[in-house]
Amino acid sequence: MNLMDTHCHLDLMVQKGINLEQALVEATQAGVAKIIVPGIDASNWATIKQYAKNHAMVEWAIGIHPMFVSETSADQLVVMRERLEQGETCVAIGECGLDFYHGRNDEERQTYVLIEQLKLAQQYQLPVLLHVRKAHQELLKLLKKYPLTRGGIVHGFTGSYELGMQYIQQGLCLGVGGSITYQRAQKTRDAFARFPLERLVFETDAPDMPLYGYQGEVNQPKFAKDVLSSFILLRNETEQTITQKTAKSARKMFEIG
Ligand SMILES: [Zn+2]
Repeated sequence: MNLMDTHCHLDLMVQKGINLEQALVEATQAGVAKIIVPGIDASNWATIKQYAKNHAMVEWAIGIHPMFVSETSADQLVVMRERLEQGETCVAIGECGLDFYHGRNDEERQTYVLIEQLKLAQQYQLPVLLHVRKAHQELLKLLKKYPLTRGGIVHGFTGSYELGMQYIQQGLCLGVGGSITYQRAQKTRDAFARFPLERLVFETDAPDMPLYGYQGEVNQPKFAKDVLSSFILLRNETEQTITQKTAKSARKMFEIG
């Protein structure tokens, strides 16, 4: 199989006590060929870069997560630019985006940090890994203002068909995650049944977002195959077509062989 876990926080999974080597072996056995590990902020870049260096199946992204913006974000953006300028080994910018769910009154700072990362993505021709909660209209507006030639992924997408299509029309892909394994996520499941397959990619968002049936367990990249199984039930295409097309989209986006 040729499954791609396009959003997996291996470093946070290790912090929860999971053995990295074991998790990667089990992921391989489950058919996972590649894992993309997003940056959170400057504090995890070195760790995940090292994972990518040590393991051929791991790639990493450099970025500042909206929930990790702080008074040091501006300095971190300077470092990010310097490293991109020097030809950093990352395959994307992210995880970046807007999270207005927690009401931390830092919407302005989040917006600034996102815009800077969108500009870096365009300047250095990299795709973006986007995180968005309670800010879809704000994000769509920014994506129109700062277009991305290389596109990106709206990770862990939940929502209506109409909303998802707005991102697809902006040239983005949607990340299919554990939410579709829950029967109660009917709106999202209906939407994923209809989106164009070539604009969808798989993810686990491990160690968070436990799948249905695994609540209380630490999520891991091997569970990408369970996301696939739930997805197959929503679609008319064969398993082979689904894995081939989604893997092709992910490989093309990140320019990985
Ligand atoms: Zn994430």
